[in-house]
This record gives sequence, structure tokens and C-alpha cells, in this order.
Amino acid sequence: MRVGIFGGTFDPVHVGHLVLAERVRDEAGLGLVRFLPSYKPPHKTDRVLTRFETRCDMAVLATTGQPAFVVDAVEKELPPPSFSVNTLRELADRHPGDEFSLVIGADSLHDLPTWYEPRELLKLAELIVVPRPGVELLTAGALAASLGVGPGDVRLRVVACPLMEVASRDLRRRVSEGKSIRYLVPRAVEEFIREKGLYAARAD
Ligand code: ATP
Repeated sequence: MRVGIFGGTFDPVHVGHLVLAERVRDEAGLGLVRFLPSYKPPHKTDRVLTRFETRCDMAVLATTGQPAFVVDAVEKELPPPSFSVNTLRELADRHPGDEFSLVIGADSLHDLPTWYEPRELLKLAELIVVPRPGVELLTAGALAASLGVGPGDVRLRVVACPLMEVASRDLRRRVSEGKSIRYLVPRAVEEFIREKGLYAARAD
């Protein structure tokens, strides 16, 4: 089965994530999209994340009802920091019949050469790149050149997605200011955030 790997902090998961995952699933013909909440992301060290289990709970609430979406908590079982290549290796071990497509925003694609073991990563997964407004789309050739590999070593597919100006950071700020996040997250996630009192005192 072809499986999309969609990693993020999901603090909290929002409609931008869901629309993206659904569009990629549909356009790329994926049998499954695995949402992978990052346990200890190497690049987000500027603030304390909401508890991993709580972020997973919100992702489960958001994806319930779409059987092709699965929340995978594997990163907690792996040694931190959560490098994508290590996660993919683990998934390949656990699901030997699956082919993986790593879903990545055009902004993050520019950073990929700085990730841990990027060449290994490209062996383990095809890239599905989602364009972001104002961000130049790196071609497979340009990425291959910056990594010093042949053009055939980069499997890259672009999937256009409706653009939604929503970011978890803005949602956290809105909640802390007592503002509404209705329709920006699924209803169940909105209620969960309220019931648990999440983001009440966040400034970032
Ligand atoms: P934060 O605001 O905390 O940085 P975020 O909203 O960017 O969070 P992440 O969980 O870090 O969310 O994002 C996971 C993935 O989803 C990333 O690849 C990111 O590019 C993508 N993404 C986030 N928001 C959107 C959006 N509105 N539209 C499309 N892709 C998005």
C-alpha cells in the first residue's frame, strides 16, 4: 500500500493540516495517511510543546471518521530527537509491504538538505511537496544537485492544495486571548481544548 507520512507538532492540529492530508491522499492515490505527531522535534526547541499524548488525542479527534487517516504515536518510542529518517526506518520495519511518501511543505523542502541523513531519507520515501504561497518550488534536479546525488535519486511529486492561512501558533495565541477558533479546528478539537484548558496562558 502507498502510505503518506505527515509529520508535524500538531499543537493543535487544524483544518489546514486536514485539508492538506485529504488532498494529498486523493491526488496521490494514497491508501493511508499516517499523521505523526513529533515527540521531540529537532527544529522546534524555542518553546515547550503541549504534552505528546494530548497532541495525539487532538489528532485522533480530528481524524476520526476518515478511515484513511491514522494517528501514529511511534515517535515517542524512538530515541529523541525525532529525526524523520529514523522514523521512516522504523515504519519500514513495521510495515514491510508499504511504500512511503513523505508529505512536506515547499518551505520545508528548502531545509531538507540540512536534515539528518537526507540522502538516506530519499531512499526510504518519495517526497510529496505541497506548494506554499510566496515560496519558490525547488525542483527535483535542484534538490539532487544540492545533495550531491543524481537526478534519478530524488522522487518528487508536487500536489497543489487549497491554501488556508491558518497556523497552530495563531490558534494558540487566539485561545490565550479568549478569541474564537471555531471552524479553524474540528468541533471536537475545539471542545477538547476548552475542556482541558489548553493554551489558556500561552504568549507565543
Ligand atoms: P506552528 O504554527 O506551531 O509552527 P503549524 O501550523 O505550522 O505549527 P505543524 O504541526 O508544524 O503546524 O505543521 C505540520 C505540517 O503541516 C508542516 O509540513 C506544515 O508545512 C504544514 N502546514 C501547517 N499549516 C498549514 C496550512 N495552513 N496549509 C498547509 N500546510 C500547512
